[in-house]
Amino acid sequence: MRKIAVITSGGDAPGMNAAVRSVVRTAIHEDMEVYGVVRGYNGLINDELVPMELRSVSDIIHRGGTTLFTARSPEFRTEEGMQKAVATCKRRGIEGVVVIGGDGSFRGARDLTARGIPCVTIPATIDNDISCCEATIGYDTAANTVIDMVDKLRDTSQSHDRCSVVEVMGRHAGWLTMSAGIAVGATSILVPEVPYDFQKDIVDKMKMSSATGKHHFIIMVAEGIGHVDELAKRIEEATGVETRATILGHVQRGGNPTARDRILASRMGNYAVHLLLQGKSNRVVAIKKDQLVDYDITEALDMKKPFDMDMYRMANEISI
Ligand code: ADP
Repeated sequence: MRKIAVITSGGDAPGMNAAVRSVVRTAIHEDMEVYGVVRGYNGLINDELVPMELRSVSDIIHRGGTTLFTARSPEFRTEEGMQKAVATCKRRGIEGVVVIGGDGSFRGARDLTARGIPCVTIPATIDNDISCCEATIGYDTAANTVIDMVDKLRDTSQSHDRCSVVEVMGRHAGWLTMSAGIAVGATSILVPEVPYDFQKDIVDKMKMSSATGKHHFIIMVAEGIGHVDELAKRIEEATGVETRATILGHVQRGGNPTARDRILASRMGNYAVHLLLQGKSNRVVAIKKDQLVDYDITEALDMKKPFDMDMYRMANEISI
């Protein structure tokens, strides 16, 4: 394999640039030619490929977002769009593709591999919702961003004896909400994976904390549960504590990647290129007990990641 391409696709995540840098540098180290595909799968459809040199990826390891840009590409999901992407690869002599993104991007990579273009994928999403992988690129940075913002909210909640109901991103997954919730010392953490009881898990906990001298509260709510304005109203009515809702929004996707994400991205990018060099394709790079491993994309998409109930139990025990 002498010529490969690298794509960032789907939702952006801090650390994508560090992964691109690693792919490019590893490929050049192995005497391969490497192209950057601009704007996700759209770049393959529209033949927007840029040759990457060693210095093309200078000064990006510390930057959030993706300098290759990303996109959601409905056209790529059609047979016609996919054939255009295959034609671009064939015309350009691209023999392998590294796709950096979430599970939607993995499905695209699986379909591209099935049409003769070998793909390897790298999980990058702040949601940490990739079943085969203990931590995805961007998750640690996003958790730190949420912590930073909620710490600021806490200052004002504390000064006014308020309750803050905070909506955290994560699509259908509660990982980001739980880890940030533990780190900010939230009174309640509501995630889609675990049913909750409004009275017992919120109102009673707030009343008990109040009776022991705590007068400000943080309730962390995963995006998959939502309705934070309505929830804030109900809490205020049930407890008499002034309650405000805050939706943190897209700011959670931004910012310079943490050391952990930069290192994870660097390792995964390097590993992905070596998989292609070994003639492997249709693989997802993952991390398990701090070791890099890889799985068949189709099998990985069928896997289930059980929510960490022990961590959730611990969070509840110490949030009294
Ligand atoms: P993410 O990769 O962050 O999960 P998306 O779900 O939007 O983001 O997926 C990114 C892109 O991957 C989509 O815009 C589409 O081009 C492609 N894709 C998503 N799902 C599929 C699918 N089932 N089959 C083929 N391609 C897909």
